[in-house]
Parts: sequence; structure tokens; C-alpha cells
Amino acid sequence: MALLTTAPRGTKDILPRDSAKWQYIERTLLTTAALFGYKEMRVPTFEHTELFNRSVGETTDVVNKEMYTFQDKGGRSITLRPEGTAGMARAAIENGLLGDALPVKLSYVLSCFRYEKPQSGRFREFHQFGVEMYGATSPAADAEVIALVHEIYDTLGVEGIQVELNSIGCPTCRKRYHEALKAYFAQYTDQLCPTCLERLEKNPMRILDCKSPVCSAIAEGAPKVLDYLCEDCADHFEQVKALLTQAGISYVVNPTIVRGLDYYTRTVFECVFTDKEGNRLVCGGGGRYGGLLGELGGPDYEGIGFAMGLERLLKVMIDQGCDFPPEETCDVYIASMGDKAGLKAFQLVNLLRSDGFQAQSDLMGRSIKAQMKYANKIGAKYTIVLGDNELEQGEATLKSMYSGSTRTVPLDDRFSDAIYEEIMSTAYADLEDAMEHLEEKK
Ligand code: ATP
Ligand code: MG
Repeated sequence: MALLTTAPRGTKDILPRDSAKWQYIERTLLTTAALFGYKEMRVPTFEHTELFNRSVGETTDVVNKEMYTFQDKGGRSITLRPEGTAGMARAAIENGLLGDALPVKLSYVLSCFRYEKPQSGRFREFHQFGVEMYGATSPAADAEVIALVHEIYDTLGVEGIQVELNSIGCPTCRKRYHEALKAYFAQYTDQLCPTCLERLEKNPMRILDCKSPVCSAIAEGAPKVLDYLCEDCADHFEQVKALLTQAGISYVVNPTIVRGLDYYTRTVFECVFTDKEGNRLVCGGGGRYGGLLGELGGPDYEGIGFAMGLERLLKVMIDQGCDFPPEETCDVYIASMGDKAGLKAFQLVNLLRSDGFQAQSDLMGRSIKAQMKYANKIGAKYTIVLGDNELEQGEATLKSMYSGSTRTVPLDDRFSDAIYEEIMSTAYADLEDAMEHLEEKK
């Protein structure tokens, strides 16, 4: 029975008390991205397993250990998306978006699924916001994506997130680097974890990303990729840094960042929040990827993008006491006594709603006293009580639940306007109060 009332491990309900925060974050992310020219795209929750094997990479943790893969009733191997980049690239190719003017800029908000050990900031279903830009090779594209990350944190009022930047070169420089890494890690084959031993052969850079304490301690002394960049890659990296510096966008170079997915080339970065106790929380990451679109059968364009985890972003925002817009509450509650007044109340709340007010009336057959109690509970800003008297006179009293002030409003087609006027005049009075207060302070 407990299964019926317990959500699967690693999943989380977003409750009504938090949904306004989620809506605010998602709206802000998408509109900020739109300022940079990104258009939202929505892709399926599941894809052919092969897509992730190919693009995320067979030697990554995500593909190796974390994917939700199953056979559907038609015998196909299907995987719930563990990230957004692969599906976005697949959809861009399939729908011919890459034939449009370059660069193509796309944004997304989606849920991701990874079979991981649930803990703080780590879930089996979580949400990501991200962007992808296709077809631009210039360092300005890399810098622009990082500028977007900055603009997002700035707009949301999040402080203390540092962009850590690195370049992992291209396949040419990586060949030399892989050899150096192999030679280094070969000295520690008796200590590396079994997964890393496998990686040593197939993709030694992955060892740098291993979370086991032993492997990460060994990785600290490993050769640094920045020392192995070819001239073109080194030049590209220098230009990205120069652009960021010119625009006053802060970053630090961290030569240990390699990112968890296989498809990255050149620029990689992570957005790291460090709390007062010095704990690092990676809130997002991204970079340039060279071979992905071509690997999936698309044109040989480069891509660049990033993704951030929304649960971690929200956690940082709440911990920091960031501002969220005030929650929308009921503007007007119309209480009614008797059947006739009930009919009128039903008509009036609908009128108010079509004029953009949040309005409510009794749906429970409650007494007037109980209706007012409910209005108070839901935070109604104004109330109206309708009874036989009001119906006869064709007007009623609008009462502010904050100030207690009252005003008579006509119950005909001037109703919404009268309410609008009252709300505006109190909002205006509040504003005047605030101005006066400021003047006094001066
Ligand atoms: P980590 O090193 O924490 O496992 P990752 O490198 O696997 O992160 P990415 O694949 O880069 O993560 O995903 C981008 C972002 O998505 C992360 O920076 C993080 O904010 C978020 N994220 C990744 N995995 C999870 C998860 N299991 N639960 C919640 N958020 C996650
Ligand atoms: Mg991970």
C-alpha cells in the first residue's frame, strides 16, 4: 500500500506553494535567453537509446550507469533523456533547422532522468534549462554563451557563482594529451577503480571526472590539458578570455574541468557555487562540441551550449534569500447569502476574471461568516458581501482586507471598472505613502 502514497526514490513533487517560484525561474531563463536570440524548442521525453550512446558517449557515467533504458512493446530500445543536448541536436537535424541562417540558437527547459544515488541536489528526475548554438566557430560565440550565463545569474539576483573555464582542445591536441595521461595513470593501475581502469584504455580523460576519492586524488597530479593545446586551440582560448575580460565578465581558469560528456572540444566551463563552509555545488556547465552534429548524420557544424540544473539553482536562490515576485492571490472574493445572491456572485466573478482579476465566490454552500474566514485564509485583497439588500439597490460595498477602507460599487456593467479604479487608487496611495516616506528620509 505504501507504494501508492510514496513517490519513487529520487523524484520530487513540485507543490503549489513552490510552483510560482518555478514559473518565475523558468520564465526568467527563457526570456533572458530570448534577449540573446534563443528560441525555445521542446523535444520528446524519450529517444532511441542509440542516440545517447552515440552522442553522450559510451565511456561516460551517464551512459554507463545512469540511463533509464527499457524495451517498448514494439521491441525498440528506448531511453528517458538523461540530458537535453542529444535530443536537441537530433531534432534540429531531423527538422531541417540547420538549413536556416546561422548561427541557429535554441533554448529548452526539460526534465532529465538519471539513475543516481539520491542525495542533496541529486535526483533521479530533475530539470534543466539550457541553450544550444549551432554553426558558429568564432570565440565570440563561446564568450556570448558565458555572457548569457552571467546575465541569468545577474537577473535572478544570484551571487557567488563563479564561471570556471578551461579548454580541452581538439582531437589533434587531445591525441598527445591522451598519451601523456595514459603514461601518468599507468603508474597507478593498482589503485584506480575498475571503471577508471577501463577508461584508461578507451578514454583516459574521463578519469579526471571520477568521483571516487582515490581516483580524484591521483588525478590531481595528472598532466594539465592546457599544456597540450595546439596553436589554433590555444589561440581560440586566449580570444575567449580576452572577450570576457573586455566585457567585464568574471571567470577563473580551472584546468581540471573536463565535463562529464564525450562530445566537448575546446571551451568547457562549469558554474560553481561555493557556500560559506567551502562546499562546491556545480549548478551548471557547458562548452563547445565539435563532432556531435556530424556524428548524428547532420552537417559538420560545431555546436556550443550549456545546461543548468533547476533544483540546484532554486536551492541556491532560497539559501541566499533571493527575491521572488510576490505570489498572486485572490483580488476579490464575493461572498453571498441566499440563492439569488449566489447567482449574481457567480456572474460577477466571471465578469472580473475576463477582465483579468483573480476572483472567487463560494463553492461550498458556507455561511457568510465561514465564507469571510475562507476569504481571509486565501489572502483575498478585497471582499464584497451580496445579500437581498445589495441586489435590490444594485450596489454593494467593496472592502479592502488590508486597510479596512470601503467603497460602494455598482453591480452592473460598470462593476469591473469601479473595482479597477479602487485597486489602482489604493495602489497609487501606497505609492504616494512610499514617496512621502522617502522625502521625509531625505
Ligand atoms: P555532477 O557532476 O553533479 O554529477 P554532471 O556533470 O553529471 O553533474 P551535467 O551532465 O553537466 O551534470 O548536467 C548539468 C547540470 O544538471 C548540473 O550542473 C547539475 O546542476 C544538474 N544535474 C545533473 N545531474 C543531476 C541530478 N541527478 N539531480 C539534479 N541535478 C542534476
Ligand atoms: Mg553526474
